[in-house]
Amino acid sequence: MSFKSILKNKLMVLLILGIAQLSIFASNPYEFPVKTIFIDPGHGGNDSGASRTYDFLSYKLDEKDITLKLANKVSFILQSRYPDINVYQTRIIDEYLSLQERSEVCYLTPLPPQTSCIYISLHVNASTNSSANGFEVFTKLPPSEKKIILFDDQTPKQNIPFFSTESNDELNEDMYEKSIEIAHDIEESISESFPSATDRGVKNDNLYVLNVARAPGVLIEVAFISNEDEAKQLIDDNYLNQMALAISDGISKSL
Ligand SMILES: [Zn+2]
Repeated sequence: MSFKSILKNKLMVLLILGIAQLSIFASNPYEFPVKTIFIDPGHGGNDSGASRTYDFLSYKLDEKDITLKLANKVSFILQSRYPDINVYQTRIIDEYLSLQERSEVCYLTPLPPQTSCIYISLHVNASTNSSANGFEVFTKLPPSEKKIILFDDQTPKQNIPFFSTESNDELNEDMYEKSIEIAHDIEESISESFPSATDRGVKNDNLYVLNVARAPGVLIEVAFISNEDEAKQLIDDNYLNQMALAISDGISKSL
């Protein structure tokens, strides 16, 4: 083989490697297919979340039990629908997890190469005003108000920010945009499935679990435990099945 053809072959190899590198280090890593979903049932153990007692119930209704039932249903639907996606729950029993524990698992879990993940936290609302009702979907604050340091010494090397050529600021923007997209997809899906429920909209808040998860994510408040009519729904398994399906459909749109 002549020197020229060796050089040509080498250049070809370098070109192919370069293209491979470009695809591995894509600019927006949140555009990679979602292959990991974290479902976080809010509260647990000695943290019962919001709770109420009602004349029609012989027991105290706790937010932690409703969120776990709902999470089990959402996980089951998503895992059945997408066998190639890893669906994890932050808890599968009635146990206490700190806010740190329940969301750091999201960025500490190594992802399959060139894939992304999303984080969905499930909650039930409460108000001192017993007529307050409806559902709402929260995302983290926009990066102009709160930036997150997306990786540190603990972050597995194959995780999201390492796929990207973007700066921390750009990653924050892209992660926020993906979160908003997921929030609107879920809001729309719940609204379609429960046309008579009050749609309180998509909101931003400085929510610790979403900040620590370091991934696109939302926190859903499905209904008010403090509203008697909605409390009656929250103990109805058919209602929870329908809500789980609506949430799963919303998530599916964002995949
Ligand atoms: Zn809660």
